[in-house]
Amino acid sequence: MTSASLWLYALLIMGLMCACRNNAVPPNTDPEPGISLMLATQRAQSIEGLSYTLALTIPADPAQPIAGDAIIRFATKDISHPLVLDFSPGADYIKSITVGGRPSHYRLVQDHIIIPKEEIASEDNVIDIDFRTGDAPLNRNPDFMYTLFVPARAHLAFPCFDQPNLKARFALELDVPSNWQSVANGAETFHETTGDRLRVRYAETQPIPTYLFAFAAGKFQVETAERNGRWLRMFHRETDAKKVERNRKSVFDLHASSLEWLEKYTGIPYRFGKFDFVLIPSFQFGGMEHPGSIFYNAASILLEESATENQMLNRASTIAHETSHMWFGDLVTMQWFNDVWMKEVFANFMAAKIVNPAFPNVNHDLRFLVSNYPSAYSVDRTAGTHPIRQELANLDEAGSLYGAIIYQKAPIVMRQLEQILGADKLQDGLRVYLKEYQFGNATWLDLIKILDDRTDLDLKAWKHAWVEEAGRPSIRTEVQSDHVAFVQSDPQDGRSLRWTEKMNVLIGTGNAVVTLPLEIQNERTIAKIPTSISKPEWILPNGGGLAYGDFTLDDSTRLFLLQHLPDLKDSLTRGTAWVTLWEELLDRRVRPADFLELSLRALPREDTEQNVQLVLGYVSDAFWTFLSDEQRHQFAERLESVLRTGLAHGASSTMKATYFSAFRSTVTVPEGITFLERVWRRQEKIPGLTLAEQDEASMALDLAVRSVPAATAILEEQRGRFMNPDRKARFEFVMPALSDRPETRQAWFESLKDIRNRRREPWVLEGLQYLHHPLRRAQSEKYIRPSLDLLLEIQRTGDIFFPTRWMNATLGNHNTRTAATVVRDFLGQQKTYPIRLRRIILQAADQLFRAAL
Ligand SMILES: [Zn+2]
Repeated sequence: MTSASLWLYALLIMGLMCACRNNAVPPNTDPEPGISLMLATQRAQSIEGLSYTLALTIPADPAQPIAGDAIIRFATKDISHPLVLDFSPGADYIKSITVGGRPSHYRLVQDHIIIPKEEIASEDNVIDIDFRTGDAPLNRNPDFMYTLFVPARAHLAFPCFDQPNLKARFALELDVPSNWQSVANGAETFHETTGDRLRVRYAETQPIPTYLFAFAAGKFQVETAERNGRWLRMFHRETDAKKVERNRKSVFDLHASSLEWLEKYTGIPYRFGKFDFVLIPSFQFGGMEHPGSIFYNAASILLEESATENQMLNRASTIAHETSHMWFGDLVTMQWFNDVWMKEVFANFMAAKIVNPAFPNVNHDLRFLVSNYPSAYSVDRTAGTHPIRQELANLDEAGSLYGAIIYQKAPIVMRQLEQILGADKLQDGLRVYLKEYQFGNATWLDLIKILDDRTDLDLKAWKHAWVEEAGRPSIRTEVQSDHVAFVQSDPQDGRSLRWTEKMNVLIGTGNAVVTLPLEIQNERTIAKIPTSISKPEWILPNGGGLAYGDFTLDDSTRLFLLQHLPDLKDSLTRGTAWVTLWEELLDRRVRPADFLELSLRALPREDTEQNVQLVLGYVSDAFWTFLSDEQRHQFAERLESVLRTGLAHGASSTMKATYFSAFRSTVTVPEGITFLERVWRRQEKIPGLTLAEQDEASMALDLAVRSVPAATAILEEQRGRFMNPDRKARFEFVMPALSDRPETRQAWFESLKDIRNRRREPWVLEGLQYLHHPLRRAQSEKYIRPSLDLLLEIQRTGDIFFPTRWMNATLGNHNTRTAATVVRDFLGQQKTYPIRLRRIILQAADQLFRAAL
């Protein structure tokens, strides 16, 4: 796609689209590239009874083409227009097309095949296409391949109607090397080996959209387990048998308990037949919810022995998240990708409910706070923020909808909705919604209509501020003698939005803490201070981690927290206070050095791992980004000593792992670096902490970026240590980004301009993180502008999270005025730049802009 057409989409999104959305497709106009809302709407209204029969012959060599045959069957209410199919690879990839057995006089335009209307009947259409697949969404590796078609990438591989609201039944036949395993949405129904080839057929699926159709094939191991009368299979490529054994039971258990919970909550049994999942090395996402065949990033499922409590919780959440999608997203699917947030919010929301009972020792409200609020704020506080629900004129821009607003802010908003409605009414409404729209599609408005019947509150006004507008309320505490006022304002000029939200205000004095439940709606909300409290010492408006906004504390509370935060007894209150103080730091009401002082005093006393993790994250950001070089130098030794103490005395291996990871990433003093090197050389052991291959690899990289004398030899030796070929290949890819030689780093960066070197996105991102390491800021600033220049192409060629992660990896470690100027100049020069990419840049640059003031 060219930048000119991107510019056009940006304009359409900004309002023009509304005008043409209701119009029918003008006759004899070729469809635009990508899948426009207009084309999709017209097709969804006319096409019925859709099914695909797909046969693919996959050679072992990823460079050899995949031959395919697609039979597409459907009825249509529209025989007065040509039929538009989606297929990107172009003329060279099509061998023949017949319609109803006769050769078609089709035409090709960009991204589409156009079948003349004369060839289409209202019933029983059969289009047979003999083709070669496009490889872009097939992730072909020497020993395995897997599809990833979300959000609308199926038509980059095979001809189809690539939109979420044309659900179809898929029948698949694969012809693969006989020593390969394969897995798809449906159960295997036929299996025949002939010589060195294997033919496998899969049962026809339930109606699913193209983005959920999937298969994987290659050299995989298969583990099988029975839970509650259902057989589950796990496909993986892990070479460390002990690692598989260590994780096996919990991984199956977590799936089984998630399934059981969801069947109970929704009142609807799992509807997609068999249940398999595939662990893929360096998978682009945490997971992808293909029904019957969930794909995961192997590293987040098969954990190391040293895994932190957080990693274990994250794994449980990822599994619960993907399993929830079987109902939310797979059974009922959004009409259009502008509502993609809904399936994500319900998956996250259910995941939080599901993992709680499995981790009885964890403070789940604290977990909800630390896993959602900091991320949501990290986007919602920036000039690049956007509403939860956004317009989307063409699916080729759908990738840019994803991010923290969908994944982290939306669950917070959904929890507010649950508070307002009551958990029972929400569950009841969701059951009605799932039942009414099962195997079909629905919009957010369809759900709100169901929920609106169940409450007296005006849900339409509520949802407008939270879902259809961007940003968060600014909420200021004003303390008077007998009451406290919370004053909300809209940080965005000329909008005067008011948010309705539930708050649990905490008022503390001496040893007592009182909770005041409160609902704010208008500009000013007053709470009477209980007579039992003579004089409040501190007031936290977001007690219980509930309220969402940019809170300006009253001066005495701020002072109190900077002195006494570690004395607060409740771990959730401490977590909330940390999140609030960090926002105050970013708004320049708390000095970074004061924040760090407080952190170093608090860490030795903090026994809740989630708070330790939260604070260490802030400490690392404050240390590298907000301190001057001189201040950093002053803090370095004390920081190292606090982290080493945490490492030595951490109560659990996971706590030790948390401290060790913070130590690795912030150590700058020579004694600390020597210690790290001794650990890497296996000359020193850390009692109670087992380090895996992956940890050693990270240590080697952290030593190299610190330019220790043996840096090159360490990298080489680490390379030789790898037992796992996938991890070794990743390390080899990243190595040049850490080279001592600037020319090597330059060449590595230049190589990223070639799409072939960007295909393994997690590898690229790891390399970029080290290229832009704070210790190498001065030398890496020159890569900012070319990285910005590449962003359009990154969006065009990469997977959905890649543009955001590319920018975060590029800008996240910078803090100078010169770096900020590069970004501002770029934005100033791009008069017609796509609005969504502009937002991504503004989000990624927010911390840089604040630090470089
Ligand atoms: Zn999801």
